[in-house]
Amino acid sequence: MGAKSAVSRTRAQAACLAVLVALLMALAGCASVEDTAPSGSAAAANAASAADARTAVCVEGLAFSRVSRTQIALTWPDETDAEATAYRVMRANAGDGEDTASWTCVAEVASDGAATGEPHAAIDELADDTLRQYRYRVDVEVREPEALRAEPGEAILASNVLVCVDPGHFGGANVVDDPAAPYCEGDFTLELARALAHDLRRSCGIEVRLTRSTGDITIDGYTNSALDSGHIALRGELAAGCDLFFSLHTNANLDNANGSPTFEQTLAITKPVVIANTCAATSPEALQVANAIGAELARASAQAGIATCDEFDAVAGADELRAWSDAYNDEVNAPGTVYVRLRDDGASDYYGVLRGAATAGVPGFIVEHGFHTVPAMRARAATGDLAGIWAAADARGIARGLGFVCEDGGV
Ligand SMILES: [Zn+2]
Repeated sequence: MGAKSAVSRTRAQAACLAVLVALLMALAGCASVEDTAPSGSAAAANAASAADARTAVCVEGLAFSRVSRTQIALTWPDETDAEATAYRVMRANAGDGEDTASWTCVAEVASDGAATGEPHAAIDELADDTLRQYRYRVDVEVREPEALRAEPGEAILASNVLVCVDPGHFGGANVVDDPAAPYCEGDFTLELARALAHDLRRSCGIEVRLTRSTGDITIDGYTNSALDSGHIALRGELAAGCDLFFSLHTNANLDNANGSPTFEQTLAITKPVVIANTCAATSPEALQVANAIGAELARASAQAGIATCDEFDAVAGADELRAWSDAYNDEVNAPGTVYVRLRDDGASDYYGVLRGAATAGVPGFIVEHGFHTVPAMRARAATGDLAGIWAAADARGIARGLGFVCEDGGV
């Protein structure tokens, strides 16, 4: 099939309202100085304390929101205003780590001298709309340098990337009536999407828009089953203004594939498959993200004991994309990969949700994490940790595919 005949669309130019503000959790406190050194501690610590007994002042609670591809907003509490005359928003390349020498000041904000509870805000205007990730911190200029010592602020990761995450189906949809390990895909995908959104924001500095945040989904007056069938493209169209789109699912095979009852499939069928839309199929950068997600998922599923193969077949371009086939989907002991599935016109996406994202000009993917027709997968989901495992793998894959870093390995 001609993936290369993909419709070339202009990226949607409509301004994207950042509807969700990411509050990154502080990962490490400021070095609080003088009264924390235990008595009898090393001579070096005592010497340092004696040399500088001033009170440390630093900015904690920095948060970011992605305003657009060229603007990142930063906010922080004003609780140090009484000690500060001014704040400097510092930026460094994320990959350099916190100890980088590449910190540069991108904005200065004056203190009004009194903590009133009104947070400070600044906008970092980026030179262009290339997708990028930075580390930010806010440094303080102290009012009384004899009594106060300015410490570097807590650093956070932030980016100008906004991804749209679609928890597949709706609450209560696609139930496997297994008394030993009951499973509902539409419930599980919501749990997965929430965990992914959390990991992306907190660990990678990537903002997320969810197509639904509860069991129900409503768009343009349509709800649940209508948005899972005839009007499903509307879900993908919600990605307008985002940089990437992911519809999260778990897979199923044909009835009685491999000679086993449908819901009693072997572990060996488990493989992550990523379905690219026509917009992503022609973008080597987007395919890198798909490759990284697939590789992370394959490894995570094997480590979790619900897959036998920990490999994923990466693709470099549209000509390497596998076309859809039931035989491949049902195949055991085969690595996952990225594929496309087109309608009979050979040009538009078979899956409405991906067609919607393509209409919005957004590279999009359906991510089939594993097979809910495998009892071990359902059992692992029922223990409560599978959504977290797969969400962390997705987050690592998205970050790695973009060339970004994650704190805490993306978990
Ligand atoms: Zn599904």
